[in-house]
Amino acid sequence: MSAREADAEAEPLACPSCALRFGLDERFCASCGMPLVYVGSDPVESPRDEAHDRARKIDPRYTEGRLVRVAGGRHQAEAELIQGMLLEEGVPSLLRRAAGFDVPDMLAAGPRDVLVPEAGAEVARDVLLQADMAPRERPAETAGAQRRHAASLTGVILAAGAFTALVTWGLIQLTA
Ligand SMILES: [Zn+2]
Repeated sequence: MSAREADAEAEPLACPSCALRFGLDERFCASCGMPLVYVGSDPVESPRDEAHDRARKIDPRYTEGRLVRVAGGRHQAEAELIQGMLLEEGVPSLLRRAAGFDVPDMLAAGPRDVLVPEAGAEVARDVLLQADMAPRERPAETAGAQRRHAASLTGVILAAGAFTALVTWGLIQLTA
């Protein structure tokens, strides 16, 4: 049995859009959210070339877990830009209309949430931080600025700790 056949046996489900393979415990594509189809050990029908290219870039290590929000785009184009940056690092992502904007008038416009599988969330946040596109909700930064005149290393450490706690809290809220 070839390695490819072994893979197909372990992951008999496939995404009809991007051709990613999944085990029987998954029902939706972690990358694009499409319902998975059962393909057994048959080769997946060749997807559109663009989708195939996308699928090839995805690092399977980053496809595990529930979808978590890592960023927001002010509109579809910005969200797609973020999505492209994440894909370059192998992280698949899914765009969703931000809560409160899923009314008919806002379907084409309005902000988008960028969601990635939990396993890819850390990498995704690093990418966004480096690109300076991480979310701006950081009250701890204001606290850090107020302490700057004291030039106290302790203050910086405290601010960093508060920020970490805030991020952790935010993650718990998102994944709850
Ligand atoms: Zn997919």
